[in-house]
Amino acid sequence: MTKQRKAVALISGGLDSLLAARVMQEQGIHVEGINFFTGFCVEGHTHAIRKKDRTKPKRNNALWVAEQLGIKLHIVDIVEEYKDVVFNPKHGYGANLNPCLDCKIFMVKKAQQWIEENGFDFIITGEVVGQRPMSQRKDTMPVVARDSGANDLLLRPLCAKNLPETKPEREGWVDPDGLYGFNGRSRKPQMALAKAFGFEDYAQPAGGCCFLTDAQYSVKLADLWQAQGHKAYEMDDIMLLKVGRHLRPRPNFKIIISREEGEGNFLQGYRKQFVSLKTTSHAGPLALIDGEASDDDLELAARIVARYSQGKNCDQVELELTDLEGNSRPLTVAPLGSHEIPEGWHI
Ligand code: SF4
Repeated sequence: MTKQRKAVALISGGLDSLLAARVMQEQGIHVEGINFFTGFCVEGHTHAIRKKDRTKPKRNNALWVAEQLGIKLHIVDIVEEYKDVVFNPKHGYGANLNPCLDCKIFMVKKAQQWIEENGFDFIITGEVVGQRPMSQRKDTMPVVARDSGANDLLLRPLCAKNLPETKPEREGWVDPDGLYGFNGRSRKPQMALAKAFGFEDYAQPAGGCCFLTDAQYSVKLADLWQAQGHKAYEMDDIMLLKVGRHLRPRPNFKIIISREEGEGNFLQGYRKQFVSLKTTSHAGPLALIDGEASDDDLELAARIVARYSQGKNCDQVELELTDLEGNSRPLTVAPLGSHEIPEGWHI
């Protein structure tokens, strides 16, 4: 009896990785999944917080995919190591602050270490030639295999027919006839294959899996780096960039203003780390002050926050200012007029 080969599949939670793993299962390969947690995942954060997104599924898509496939999923926290990828991508950024090519190389390299440590034979990904402008081009796909160190142990079952032969094919671990030759941006072949496998519900890839591909998010991250004077972030920073309206009226501080109840509740959790403002005379948002703010800055912040409260057309709005020790004091301000909030303050 031939030895059953074992592959680890990079599972993002999207359709492609689901299919790639399924294609391998069809061939009798033992598949386990690996999902890398960078902190920039879209799902399950804003969707979980904001009321307007309540209809969206709050599942962890990678876990859901693993459950659909009946495979074990290894979720690996790479938050710290990943920072270097975000700060110094050798191959640069994509349209936004997404370092996709370096990210792919990094993840495949981690997977390569993982298979060595766990006695697996090869790695599979759901990549498709020509699907993404940066990491999934015909000329960059070999770069991922080479620079990650995985070389010919990296098999892409959905487009293997368009790529050089890998060891699993050469050695007969997999049947080349059961591999595919998808290419280009059209997702129709994947959808047809999903249908053939009986998958009807899967995560829609639109918008990507990662906040770094989001233009607005990238602007906020770049602003954070500029304000700090260097590239750095903590988990709390990247979480907070996902929530609320961000305004920087002066270089030394910014205000994060909740846009709705769910966000207000979420920001409450940060009241020990940030000076906060809350309207008391009228219904209004909770706001956090990020940076070193003078009394004059705080007054300006309060006038901005008042602008976003139910009292925006009143002469005066009362607020409560709470410092880092939890001491509160009242503030009464005139809300700024909408024309007094320049577009440039919005990050
Ligand atoms: S979209 Fe994000 S997670 Fe995906 S390859 Fe690009 S940087 Fe990495």
